[in-house]
Amino acid sequence: MTERSYNDQRFEEISENIKVIRENVAAGAEKSGRKPEDIKIMAVTKTVDPIFINHAIDNCGIDLIGENRVQEYFSKKDTLHLDRCDVHLIGHLQTNKVKQIVPEVSMIQSVDSIRLAEEIGKTASKLGKTMEVLVEINIGNEDSKFGIDQSELSEFICRISEISGVKVKGLMTIPPFEEKNSALERFFLDMYRFFIDIRSKKIDNVDMDILSMGMSGDYYEAIINGSNLVRIGSSMFGKRIY
Ligand SMILES: *Cc1c(COP(=O)(O)O)cnc(C)c1O
Repeated sequence: MTERSYNDQRFEEISENIKVIRENVAAGAEKSGRKPEDIKIMAVTKTVDPIFINHAIDNCGIDLIGENRVQEYFSKKDTLHLDRCDVHLIGHLQTNKVKQIVPEVSMIQSVDSIRLAEEIGKTASKLGKTMEVLVEINIGNEDSKFGIDQSELSEFICRISEISGVKVKGLMTIPPFEEKNSALERFFLDMYRFFIDIRSKKIDNVDMDILSMGMSGDYYEAIINGSNLVRIGSSMFGKRIY
């Protein structure tokens, strides 16, 4: 196959995938008593060639992308059509990369330590901006995953609310891999309860607006359990090739 026709075929696949994702999101929204537009679809773009990301932005209405690694983002950013699209960092962030990424993104979804939040706040303040962040929770208490423990959540939120230059906008999680949907849904429901519980406390400088959960394999379950931002990679762009 020529390169041209290979790309055309992938463009078509991506368009079709996004159409299906929108239908499923709409069904989940309806099932949970919401409107399709209440749920934000993020395109997760790690390892994806910018021409395919730009296709999703230019032709499929994608206006939010999530990148995992600071270095990979910088290698792509000049070719991305970011005038029409927001970028969130969704991967683990090391404090020594904070200065580079804070000016670039509209949200950091992966805040998992006070030290990191302080570093983000310091950098953002110097730039005269406030960085919106989500607190990442390790809902399955897995050793292999980043995120704070649920038992620390209340105290963590209170401490982070006092850091200037940072504003908490909600919660994010990557749940454990589960064979059974019922097990997975319990994690999503726990997240939703934390989200509602913290929101009801009306903490200064904390807006519980965003509950970021649900990926390619489980976004429907996440939505019916209260997610309002789904992060979708492989079922949009195809299997990742590392
Ligand atoms: C890769 C990734 C996703 C998307 O995963 P898919 O299963 O490909 O949809 C979502 N969130 C985070 C944090 C990721 O790293």
